[in-house]
Amino acid sequence: MLKRVLTFARRFLLPHYGWLATTLLTGLITAAASGLGVPLLVKFVFPVVFYSGSGEEPALMGMLPALKTWDHSTLLLMACAVMPLIFAVRGLAMWANHVVVNILGIRILESLRKTVFHHVQQLPIAYLDSKSKGDIVSRIVSDTSNVQNVLSHVANDLVKQPITCVCAFSAFIYLLFRDGNLEMGLVLLFIALAAWPIVVFGKRISARAKQAQAGLGEINTVVQQNLETQREVRAYAMEERQINDFRGASEHYRRNMDKLVKYQRLVIPIMETATALALSFLLVFGSQSGMGMTDFMTLALAMYFTFDSMKRAGQAFNRLNEAQGALGRLEEVLDEHNPIDDPAEPAEFKLPVRGELVFDNVSFEYEEGKPVLRDINVRIPAGQVVGLVGPSGAGKTTFANLIPRFYEVSKGAVLVDGVDVRDVTRYELREHLAIVGQQALLFRGTVRENIALGRRDATEQQVLAAADSARVSAFLPLLPKGIDTCLGAGGSGLSGGQRQRVAIARAFVKDAPILILDEATASLDAESEKEIQHELEALAKGRTTLIVAHRFSTLRHADRILVFDHGRIVGDGSHEQLYATCPLYKDLYDRQGAVE
Ligand code: ADP
Repeated sequence: MLKRVLTFARRFLLPHYGWLATTLLTGLITAAASGLGVPLLVKFVFPVVFYSGSGEEPALMGMLPALKTWDHSTLLLMACAVMPLIFAVRGLAMWANHVVVNILGIRILESLRKTVFHHVQQLPIAYLDSKSKGDIVSRIVSDTSNVQNVLSHVANDLVKQPITCVCAFSAFIYLLFRDGNLEMGLVLLFIALAAWPIVVFGKRISARAKQAQAGLGEINTVVQQNLETQREVRAYAMEERQINDFRGASEHYRRNMDKLVKYQRLVIPIMETATALALSFLLVFGSQSGMGMTDFMTLALAMYFTFDSMKRAGQAFNRLNEAQGALGRLEEVLDEHNPIDDPAEPAEFKLPVRGELVFDNVSFEYEEGKPVLRDINVRIPAGQVVGLVGPSGAGKTTFANLIPRFYEVSKGAVLVDGVDVRDVTRYELREHLAIVGQQALLFRGTVRENIALGRRDATEQQVLAAADSARVSAFLPLLPKGIDTCLGAGGSGLSGGQRQRVAIARAFVKDAPILILDEATASLDAESEKEIQHELEALAKGRTTLIVAHRFSTLRHADRILVFDHGRIVGDGSHEQLYATCPLYKDLYDRQGAVE
């Protein structure tokens, strides 16, 4: 556990060394003022006030003989001034400490979140496919917050409390030796008793905390899925089932939190009982050895601060255990590495990129032993418009996804203009590709910004020309602020067809030599599809284009069609050739013809 915490601390705590040092310094002052200041005040300052002139001289007078010349009211004034002074210093340091701990915490949280989010951008798509979005949101938002909370507070307490403990304990031991009350040292046995719950419950706390964090991820997943599928939920009257799913996840979380709190809170009463036992013990010994009230109070205070700081250090330790779950979940993400790395010495395409594609003996599997594409050999000359057809699940989308290197081939190679896609950087490769998917994903921002996303250095003219080519201009007058109308996340406010046109305009702006249309009109009704078809054909002109088609009507302008079946290409040719020679193609075509 310690190694894990230290690794995180080194990575996320140490860079904020200025705030960390201030936290420690203010913590140290608080610790010294509590652990040493208060007991020593009782031991040294109080006797001076109560000294009547006869009997044993107070120790402080021995150290500072000048005090003997002060009259009683001056001494009283001094004592009255010292006490608030110590508490003022302690209070001020404590306040500063809390403020700085929070400042430090926010900084840790910020760098943690940035790091995890940045890392998620680099993760393989295959990894993101395998996780629920809600769970990833939970890791970025809630697990980071949990770890921050612990790192900042624990960094403080794990330093401050042991120092308070050492100070108070030193004062305690000093007083025992000084007054020869060594048998009272037996009180230390209670320290062992007080430490016991910290160790015993630590492990349980850690296990429960991990379950609770995972439960939070589960809640997020249910909510996320529910919001994403509201239409289906209502259409199929699934509200009750969704509410039950949510109830299940919430109750699971609550049960774990109940258990967590039970263990967390058990530590404090056990430690406080141990402290009270130690005090009673001290009282018995003190009264038997004829100890004075001041000596007893001093000892008791030193002991109290020893135990109290131990208790707080114990709580900090518990919090560390509690953060184990969140730490582990963050580590899982941060340790995940993208196997699709850029080459150390990347090749470059010869410009301008023509867009010739070659699949050289390519096989691919998402899961080991389950090939999705098998021994694919195909050459697509630059500028050819190629339709990919086949039954659902035949591997068409997977085939298209290998070109931008979203997934790594298991065997063989994919070449663009004769260059293996693994030999260039992902950035360089994707610069020359445009993709229009089934759901036009728009981002928060204006229509203009959404189009300009296609190209970093897009000029105003290029954006407007793209809006014209994709016929976005046709519906701009209907929007409240035309091209400067803000779209919500997901592009709400536009119809499916309008959104798709913005996505097409984005591809126009990108002006890439290779274009992938992955069922770009699948989510549209026949009327909108017909309208969009024209823009898509204009976009495909002069580019190497792959059209993953669900309707044959989208393939009217294809130069060539590849027929996929169970991960193999079983037909390759024009519509007429395939209709005459490929039974699967004929069958698919006839069946769809019958429907349409
Ligand atoms: P098509 O586009 O022809 O409908 P896909 O390329 O989408 O087919 O899928 C081919 C096969 O790969 C299917 O059996 C599908 O279940 C599987 N598959 C697709 N995506 C994934 C994924 N992300 N993880 C695991 N299997 C997948």
